[in-house]
Amino acid sequence: EKEELKALKDKEAISKDGIKVDVWGNIGSPNDVKGIISNGGFGVGLYRTEFLFMEKDSFPTENEQFEAYKIVAEELKGYPVTIRTMDIGGDKSLPYMELPKEENPFLGWRAIRVCLDREEILRTQFKALLRASKYGQIKIMLPMIMDIAEVRKAKIIFEECKKELREKEIEFDENIMLGIMLETPAVAFRAKYFAKECDFFSIGTNDLTQYTLAVDRGNEKIANLYDTYNPSVLQAIKMSIDGAHEGGIRISMCGEFAGDENAIALLFGMGLDAFSMSGISIPRVKRIIMKLNKKDCEDLVERALSLSTASEIKEEVKKFMEKI
Ligand code: PEP
Ligand code: MG
Repeated sequence: EKEELKALKDKEAISKDGIKVDVWGNIGSPNDVKGIISNGGFGVGLYRTEFLFMEKDSFPTENEQFEAYKIVAEELKGYPVTIRTMDIGGDKSLPYMELPKEENPFLGWRAIRVCLDREEILRTQFKALLRASKYGQIKIMLPMIMDIAEVRKAKIIFEECKKELREKEIEFDENIMLGIMLETPAVAFRAKYFAKECDFFSIGTNDLTQYTLAVDRGNEKIANLYDTYNPSVLQAIKMSIDGAHEGGIRISMCGEFAGDENAIALLFGMGLDAFSMSGISIPRVKRIIMKLNKKDCEDLVERALSLSTASEIKEEVKKFMEKI
Protein backbone atom coordinates (compact mmCIF):
# COMPACT_ATOMS: atom_id res chain seq x y z
CA GLU A 1 0.00 0.00 0.00
CA LYS A 2 2.86 2.33 0.87
CA GLU A 3 4.33 1.99 -2.62
CA GLU A 4 0.94 2.55 -4.22
CA LEU A 5 0.48 5.79 -2.28
CA LYS A 6 4.01 6.95 -3.03
CA ALA A 7 3.36 6.55 -6.74
CA LEU A 8 0.63 9.19 -6.51
CA LYS A 9 3.07 11.90 -5.48
CA ASP A 10 3.33 13.58 -8.88
CA LYS A 11 -0.23 12.79 -9.99
CA GLU A 12 -3.05 15.31 -10.00
CA ALA A 13 -6.29 14.47 -8.21
CA ILE A 14 -8.64 13.77 -11.12
CA SER A 15 -11.84 11.78 -10.70
CA LYS A 16 -12.73 8.80 -12.89
CA ASP A 17 -14.94 11.05 -15.01
CA GLY A 18 -12.19 13.63 -15.47
CA ILE A 19 -12.94 16.32 -12.90
CA LYS A 20 -9.85 17.84 -11.35
CA VAL A 21 -9.77 19.15 -7.79
CA ASP A 22 -6.86 20.73 -5.96
CA VAL A 23 -5.30 18.90 -3.03
CA TRP A 24 -3.28 21.20 -0.82
CA GLY A 25 -1.65 21.09 2.62
CA ASN A 26 -2.08 23.07 5.84
CA ILE A 27 1.00 24.55 7.51
CA GLY A 28 1.85 26.47 10.68
CA SER A 29 5.38 27.55 9.75
CA PRO A 30 7.71 27.80 6.74
CA ASN A 31 9.39 24.57 7.90
CA ASP A 32 6.23 22.61 7.12
CA VAL A 33 6.32 23.27 3.36
CA LYS A 34 8.70 20.36 2.67
CA GLY A 35 6.28 17.87 4.20
CA ILE A 36 3.47 19.09 1.98
CA ILE A 37 5.50 18.81 -1.22
CA SER A 38 6.97 15.41 -0.30
CA ASN A 39 3.47 14.08 0.26
CA GLY A 40 2.31 15.26 -3.15
CA GLY A 41 0.48 18.47 -2.25
CA PHE A 42 0.40 20.98 -5.11
CA GLY A 43 0.17 24.02 -2.86
CA VAL A 44 -0.78 25.25 0.60
CA GLY A 45 -4.45 25.95 1.28
CA LEU A 46 -3.93 27.30 4.79
CA TYR A 47 -0.88 28.87 6.38
CA ARG A 48 -1.85 29.71 9.97
CA THR A 49 0.29 32.79 10.66
CA GLU A 50 -0.65 33.14 14.32
CA PHE A 51 2.24 30.83 15.29
CA LEU A 52 4.62 33.44 13.91
CA PHE A 53 3.06 35.86 16.40
CA MET A 54 2.85 33.39 19.31
CA GLU A 55 6.48 32.29 19.32
CA LYS A 56 7.85 35.83 19.79
CA ASP A 57 7.83 38.20 22.74
CA SER A 58 6.64 41.18 20.75
CA PHE A 59 4.76 41.69 17.47
CA PRO A 60 6.84 40.44 14.52
CA THR A 61 7.95 43.40 12.41
CA GLU A 62 6.94 43.87 8.79
CA ASN A 63 10.38 42.64 7.74
CA GLU A 64 10.29 39.55 9.95
CA GLN A 65 6.90 38.65 8.54
CA PHE A 66 8.01 39.38 4.99
CA GLU A 67 10.95 36.96 5.37
CA ALA A 68 8.69 34.14 6.56
CA TYR A 69 6.08 34.64 3.81
CA LYS A 70 8.78 34.98 1.15
CA ILE A 71 10.38 31.66 2.14
CA VAL A 72 7.03 29.89 1.85
CA ALA A 73 6.23 31.51 -1.51
CA GLU A 74 9.65 30.64 -2.92
CA GLU A 75 9.73 27.07 -1.62
CA LEU A 76 6.42 26.36 -3.32
CA LYS A 77 7.96 27.22 -6.71
CA GLY A 78 4.87 28.71 -8.27
CA TYR A 79 2.30 26.53 -6.50
CA PRO A 80 -0.23 28.67 -4.63
CA VAL A 81 -0.17 29.45 -0.93
CA THR A 82 -3.16 30.83 0.94
CA ILE A 83 -1.91 32.82 3.91
CA ARG A 84 -4.37 33.60 6.69
CA THR A 85 -4.08 36.84 8.63
CA MET A 86 -3.57 36.57 12.38
CA ASP A 87 -6.25 34.51 14.11
CA ILE A 88 -5.65 35.28 17.76
CA GLY A 89 -8.21 35.21 20.59
CA GLY A 90 -10.55 32.28 21.14
CA ASP A 91 -8.17 29.63 22.48
CA LYS A 92 -4.99 31.39 21.30
CA SER A 93 -3.32 34.24 23.20
CA LEU A 94 -0.21 36.36 22.76
CA PRO A 95 2.20 36.74 25.71
CA TYR A 96 2.81 40.40 24.86
CA MET A 97 -0.75 41.49 24.12
CA GLU A 98 -3.31 42.14 26.78
CA LEU A 99 -6.47 40.28 25.78
CA PRO A 100 -9.48 40.97 27.98
CA LYS A 101 -10.81 38.15 30.13
CA GLU A 102 -14.00 37.13 28.44
CA GLU A 103 -16.95 34.95 29.38
CA ASN A 104 -17.10 33.50 25.86
CA PRO A 105 -13.74 33.91 24.11
CA PHE A 106 -14.85 32.00 21.01
CA LEU A 107 -17.69 34.50 20.61
CA GLY A 108 -15.51 37.40 21.57
CA TRP A 109 -12.59 39.52 20.51
CA ARG A 110 -10.95 37.18 18.05
CA ALA A 111 -9.23 37.12 14.63
CA ILE A 112 -10.47 39.76 12.17
CA ARG A 113 -12.25 41.54 15.03
CA VAL A 114 -8.93 42.18 16.77
CA CYS A 115 -7.27 43.17 13.49
CA LEU A 116 -9.96 45.69 12.54
CA ASP A 117 -9.86 47.27 16.01
CA ARG A 118 -6.07 47.35 16.06
CA GLU A 119 -5.61 48.35 12.44
CA GLU A 120 -1.84 48.69 12.61
CA ILE A 121 -1.55 44.92 13.12
CA LEU A 122 -3.46 44.28 9.90
CA ARG A 123 -1.62 46.99 7.97
CA THR A 124 1.76 45.59 8.92
CA GLN A 125 0.71 42.08 7.94
CA PHE A 126 -0.86 43.19 4.65
CA LYS A 127 2.27 45.08 3.64
CA ALA A 128 4.52 42.13 4.49
CA LEU A 129 2.25 39.83 2.46
CA LEU A 130 2.11 42.20 -0.50
CA ARG A 131 5.89 42.51 -0.59
CA ALA A 132 6.27 38.72 -0.44
CA SER A 133 3.70 38.25 -3.23
CA LYS A 134 6.40 39.12 -5.74
CA TYR A 135 8.16 35.83 -4.96
CA GLY A 136 5.40 33.32 -5.64
CA GLN A 137 1.66 32.83 -5.81
CA ILE A 138 0.27 34.26 -2.57
CA LYS A 139 -3.42 34.59 -1.71
CA ILE A 140 -4.60 36.30 1.45
CA MET A 141 -7.42 35.04 3.64
CA LEU A 142 -9.33 36.71 6.50
CA PRO A 143 -10.51 34.55 9.43
CA MET A 144 -13.80 34.64 11.39
CA ILE A 145 -15.69 36.90 9.01
CA MET A 146 -19.41 37.19 9.78
CA ASP A 147 -20.44 40.48 8.16
CA ILE A 148 -19.82 42.04 4.75
CA ALA A 149 -18.96 45.30 6.50
CA GLU A 150 -15.86 43.57 7.88
CA VAL A 151 -14.82 42.50 4.39
CA ARG A 152 -15.24 46.03 3.08
CA LYS A 153 -13.26 47.57 5.95
CA ALA A 154 -10.42 45.11 5.42
CA LYS A 155 -10.45 45.81 1.68
CA ILE A 156 -10.15 49.55 2.22
CA ILE A 157 -7.09 48.97 4.41
CA PHE A 158 -5.72 46.52 1.85
CA GLU A 159 -6.05 49.08 -0.96
CA GLU A 160 -4.38 51.74 1.19
CA CYS A 161 -1.45 49.39 1.79
CA LYS A 162 -1.12 48.75 -1.96
CA LYS A 163 -1.18 52.48 -2.62
CA GLU A 164 1.57 53.04 -0.06
CA LEU A 165 3.78 50.41 -1.69
CA ARG A 166 3.17 51.82 -5.17
CA GLU A 167 4.17 55.27 -3.95
CA LYS A 168 7.39 53.79 -2.59
CA GLU A 169 7.84 51.88 -5.86
CA ILE A 170 7.86 48.54 -4.07
CA GLU A 171 6.76 45.74 -6.36
CA PHE A 172 3.99 43.27 -5.54
CA ASP A 173 1.54 41.02 -7.37
CA GLU A 174 -1.16 43.42 -8.63
CA ASN A 175 -3.54 40.47 -9.17
CA ILE A 176 -3.21 39.12 -5.63
CA MET A 177 -6.45 37.57 -4.39
CA LEU A 178 -8.17 38.42 -1.12
CA GLY A 179 -10.60 35.82 0.24
CA ILE A 180 -12.28 34.84 3.47
CA MET A 181 -12.63 31.86 5.76
CA LEU A 182 -16.18 30.59 5.72
CA GLU A 183 -16.55 29.53 9.33
CA THR A 184 -19.65 31.24 10.67
CA PRO A 185 -23.26 30.33 9.80
CA ALA A 186 -23.79 34.03 9.09
CA VAL A 187 -21.68 33.70 5.95
CA ALA A 188 -23.08 30.30 4.96
CA PHE A 189 -26.64 31.67 4.92
CA ARG A 190 -25.72 34.45 2.53
CA ALA A 191 -22.66 33.04 0.79
CA LYS A 192 -23.71 34.40 -2.59
CA TYR A 193 -23.63 37.99 -1.31
CA PHE A 194 -20.24 37.54 0.32
CA ALA A 195 -18.95 35.91 -2.87
CA LYS A 196 -19.59 39.12 -4.78
CA GLU A 197 -17.10 40.92 -2.52
CA CYS A 198 -14.42 38.24 -2.17
CA ASP A 199 -12.04 36.48 -4.54
CA PHE A 200 -12.43 33.05 -2.92
CA PHE A 201 -13.77 31.16 0.11
CA SER A 202 -12.21 28.50 2.29
CA ILE A 203 -14.49 26.58 4.65
CA GLY A 204 -13.16 26.21 8.19
CA THR A 205 -15.17 23.24 9.39
CA ASN A 206 -13.59 23.27 12.85
CA ASP A 207 -15.25 26.56 13.64
CA LEU A 208 -18.24 26.17 11.33
CA THR A 209 -19.17 23.00 13.26
CA GLN A 210 -18.69 24.75 16.61
CA TYR A 211 -20.77 27.78 15.63
CA THR A 212 -23.53 25.91 13.78
CA LEU A 213 -24.13 23.47 16.64
CA ALA A 214 -23.28 25.86 19.50
CA VAL A 215 -20.83 23.20 20.73
CA ASP A 216 -17.43 24.37 22.01
CA ARG A 217 -14.80 22.64 19.85
CA GLY A 218 -12.46 22.15 22.79
CA ASN A 219 -14.84 21.06 25.55
CA GLU A 220 -14.40 17.34 26.23
CA LYS A 221 -17.61 17.08 28.15
CA ILE A 222 -19.61 17.69 24.99
CA ALA A 223 -17.17 16.20 22.49
CA ASN A 224 -19.79 13.60 21.60
CA LEU A 225 -22.04 16.41 20.31
CA TYR A 226 -19.32 17.94 18.15
CA ASP A 227 -19.88 16.27 14.79
CA THR A 228 -19.35 17.71 11.33
CA TYR A 229 -21.59 14.94 9.93
CA ASN A 230 -24.50 16.56 11.74
CA PRO A 231 -26.99 17.24 8.92
CA SER A 232 -27.21 20.92 9.84
CA VAL A 233 -23.45 21.33 9.41
CA LEU A 234 -23.50 19.44 6.11
CA GLN A 235 -26.35 21.65 4.97
CA ALA A 236 -24.30 24.73 5.89
CA ILE A 237 -21.37 23.35 3.86
CA LYS A 238 -23.59 22.69 0.85
CA MET A 239 -25.15 26.15 1.04
CA SER A 240 -21.67 27.65 1.16
CA ILE A 241 -20.50 25.77 -1.93
CA ASP A 242 -23.66 26.60 -3.88
CA GLY A 243 -23.44 30.27 -2.85
CA ALA A 244 -19.79 30.51 -3.86
CA HIS A 245 -20.52 29.11 -7.30
CA GLU A 246 -23.60 31.30 -7.78
CA GLY A 247 -21.38 34.24 -6.95
CA GLY A 248 -18.77 33.04 -9.42
CA ILE A 249 -15.87 32.19 -7.08
CA ARG A 250 -14.00 29.02 -6.12
CA ILE A 251 -14.35 27.42 -2.73
CA SER A 252 -11.95 25.20 -0.85
CA MET A 253 -12.00 23.59 2.59
CA CYS A 254 -9.16 23.76 5.11
CA GLY A 255 -10.83 22.46 8.28
CA GLU A 256 -10.18 18.93 9.57
CA PHE A 257 -13.14 17.57 7.59
CA ALA A 258 -11.27 18.06 4.29
CA GLY A 259 -8.82 15.34 5.35
CA ASP A 260 -11.48 12.91 6.58
CA GLU A 261 -11.30 9.98 4.17
CA ASN A 262 -14.98 9.20 4.63
CA ALA A 263 -16.03 12.77 3.82
CA ILE A 264 -14.30 13.13 0.44
CA ALA A 265 -17.08 11.66 -1.70
CA LEU A 266 -19.69 13.85 -0.02
CA LEU A 267 -17.63 17.00 -0.50
CA PHE A 268 -16.76 16.13 -4.08
CA GLY A 269 -20.45 15.52 -4.76
CA MET A 270 -21.30 18.93 -3.32
CA GLY A 271 -18.87 20.51 -5.78
CA LEU A 272 -15.98 21.51 -3.52
CA ASP A 273 -13.11 22.81 -5.69
CA ALA A 274 -10.13 22.22 -3.40
CA PHE A 275 -9.21 20.22 -0.30
CA SER A 276 -6.51 21.35 2.16
CA MET A 277 -5.26 19.09 4.95
CA SER A 278 -2.26 17.92 6.95
CA GLY A 279 0.52 16.53 4.77
CA ILE A 280 0.13 12.92 5.85
CA SER A 281 -3.50 12.80 4.67
CA ILE A 282 -2.75 13.96 1.13
CA PRO A 283 -1.85 10.64 -0.60
CA ARG A 284 -4.92 8.80 0.66
CA VAL A 285 -7.27 11.62 -0.21
CA LYS A 286 -5.85 11.78 -3.73
CA ARG A 287 -6.34 8.06 -4.15
CA ILE A 288 -9.98 8.33 -3.09
CA ILE A 289 -10.70 11.20 -5.49
CA MET A 290 -9.30 9.13 -8.35
CA LYS A 291 -11.91 6.46 -7.64
CA LEU A 292 -14.91 8.78 -7.68
CA ASN A 293 -17.60 9.62 -10.23
CA LYS A 294 -19.32 12.98 -9.88
CA LYS A 295 -22.84 11.71 -10.59
CA ASP A 296 -22.57 8.90 -7.97
CA CYS A 297 -21.30 11.42 -5.43
CA GLU A 298 -24.11 13.85 -6.19
CA ASP A 299 -26.62 11.04 -5.60
CA LEU A 300 -24.87 10.26 -2.32
CA VAL A 301 -25.23 13.90 -1.23
CA GLU A 302 -28.93 13.84 -2.01
CA ARG A 303 -29.46 10.63 -0.02
CA ALA A 304 -27.30 11.84 2.87
CA LEU A 305 -29.06 15.17 3.23
CA SER A 306 -32.46 13.49 3.27
CA LEU A 307 -31.44 11.57 6.42
CA SER A 308 -32.05 12.90 9.92
CA THR A 309 -29.02 12.23 12.08
CA ALA A 310 -25.23 12.19 11.90
CA SER A 311 -25.09 8.47 12.59
CA GLU A 312 -27.52 7.65 9.76
CA ILE A 313 -25.44 9.78 7.42
CA LYS A 314 -22.19 8.14 8.49
CA GLU A 315 -23.75 4.72 7.88
CA GLU A 316 -24.82 5.75 4.36
CA VAL A 317 -21.41 7.23 3.57
CA LYS A 318 -19.63 4.14 4.88
CA LYS A 319 -21.69 1.89 2.59
CA PHE A 320 -20.74 4.08 -0.36
CA MET A 321 -17.05 4.12 0.52
CA GLU A 322 -16.91 0.34 0.86
CA LYS A 323 -18.17 -0.03 -2.71
CA ILE A 324 -15.70 2.24 -4.45
C1 PEP B 1 -11.27 25.98 11.01
O1 PEP B 1 -11.89 26.65 11.82
O2 PEP B 1 -11.74 24.95 10.46
C2 PEP B 1 -9.89 26.34 10.63
C3 PEP B 1 -9.27 25.75 9.62
O3 PEP B 1 -9.27 27.30 11.38
P1 PEP B 1 -8.67 27.02 12.86
O4 PEP B 1 -8.76 25.54 13.08
O5 PEP B 1 -7.29 27.54 12.81
O6 PEP B 1 -9.61 27.81 13.71
MG1 MG C 1 -11.13 28.61 12.41
